[in-house]
Amino acid sequence: MIIIVGSGAGGATVAKELALAGLPVTLIEKGPLLITQQAFTAYDARDNDLELLKTTCGGGSTMVSVGNGVRVLQEELKSLGIDISIELAEAEQELKVNPLPDSHLGKGTKLLMEAAYNLDLPIQSMPKFIRPSECIPCGKCSFGCPRNAKWTAMDFINEAKEAGAQIFFNTGLEKIIIEKGKLKGVNIRRNFQDTTILNSSDQTSQYIKTDLVILAAGAIETPRILQKSGIKAGNNLFMDTFVTVGGILKDIEFYEEVMMATLVPFDNFILAPHFSTFLLEKLKNYGAQGKDILGIMVKIKDENSGQVTPEKVFKQNTLQDVRFLAEGSAVAGSILSEAGVKPSTIISTHPRGAHPGGTAPIGKIVDENLETSVKGLFLSDASVLPFAPGAPPILTIIALAKRLAQHIIKKYAD
Ligand SMILES: Cc1cc2nc3c(=O)[nH]c(=O)nc-3n(C[C@H](O)[C@H](O)[C@H](O)COP(=O)(O)OP(=O)(O)OC[C@H]3O[C@@H](n4cnc5c(N)ncnc54)[C@H](O)[C@@H]3O)c2cc1C
Repeated sequence: MIIIVGSGAGGATVAKELALAGLPVTLIEKGPLLITQQAFTAYDARDNDLELLKTTCGGGSTMVSVGNGVRVLQEELKSLGIDISIELAEAEQELKVNPLPDSHLGKGTKLLMEAAYNLDLPIQSMPKFIRPSECIPCGKCSFGCPRNAKWTAMDFINEAKEAGAQIFFNTGLEKIIIEKGKLKGVNIRRNFQDTTILNSSDQTSQYIKTDLVILAAGAIETPRILQKSGIKAGNNLFMDTFVTVGGILKDIEFYEEVMMATLVPFDNFILAPHFSTFLLEKLKNYGAQGKDILGIMVKIKDENSGQVTPEKVFKQNTLQDVRFLAEGSAVAGSILSEAGVKPSTIISTHPRGAHPGGTAPIGKIVDENLETSVKGLFLSDASVLPFAPGAPPILTIIALAKRLAQHIIKKYAD
């Protein structure tokens, strides 16, 4: 039996690919099964003082994604001997990645595009895994989606289930059992409400014997599980730190648009149209309402300077991070002014992160086949990414998971 832990971007993909190949897959997911409209209820509480956004539920953080599907780290992975070009193309097809049609771009986004163009900046459309025929722009992608109009990892979980995989929600992995360096099995715990799974409603720990485990619990929980199991991991954390810079433009109604529908890429950061309620909180003092705010996200390639311990997550901005944030914010300010935002009202939010990764990187904790030093123990999530992409990582996580599935399918066939 193959045990997969976590149903986010990496776990759902590997589950689907292995189940479609006829392999015996059991996936456990700590969080509940939710409809996309409820995904916002699954955001995790802050860890330490750090604002790191992620969710615990079926589909993981893909449930609250804004549907951005860009290729990241392709060249960097190639230099490590990992070519994911075929898998990326496959993922783009399956997720139907495309720019949104003009009809789905709002007034604020169009103003920012024009302003960036006037300033000679390399503005381009953001590739999206949003189905335009089902999307009525409302600005709520990161709450879930009121109309279920975007791809989430639950689409792959459903495919895996149809192909015969066993999927258990509200069921968390506690520990991997390793004896004398050999993988023996896992301890899992049925957590909460779901009494339809396994064979009883008891909540005690249960042992499952297996010699193949794929950990896909995300870049914060995967290293914690490894640490509990005696494998060193948890350093090198990045989170693609971002701020939202914005100001007042009366009645622009930008907050109801699809966020991040366009993109201005730079070497060390990207800029994309973005509304934040944190801007509103501050700009209320100037008499602004939500409908009066126009903003731009500045997302940087931060340094792998953070750390995950069993109790806490530590991540501070390095001098270089601050420099990239300042450079990006300066450009964002120029675009906003050019778009008509009153310069004296332009402010920034505090730094946050939504793409944790790097805590069990390729070359350090896993090899190029994503296997740890323990035979049969593989990783399939953002923890394996060696560097901060500074841009949305879902497509690359999916591509790596597809490559891992091929490796395991070959292993089974041998
Ligand atoms: C608001 C927001 C918007 C985003 N928008 C985009 C976007 O548009 N495009 C993009 O590319 N990226 C986006 N991201 C980032 C993207 O969602 C993540 O990078 C991606 O989902 C990470 O995939 P993963 O497989 O590493 O982990 P996750 O998707 O987080 O999945 C990990 C899963 O493991 C489960 N789990 C944890 N511990 C255990 C355990 N002990 N036992 C069992 N299960 C466990 C969790 O509940 C979770 O379901 C966004 C993130 C946020 C928060």
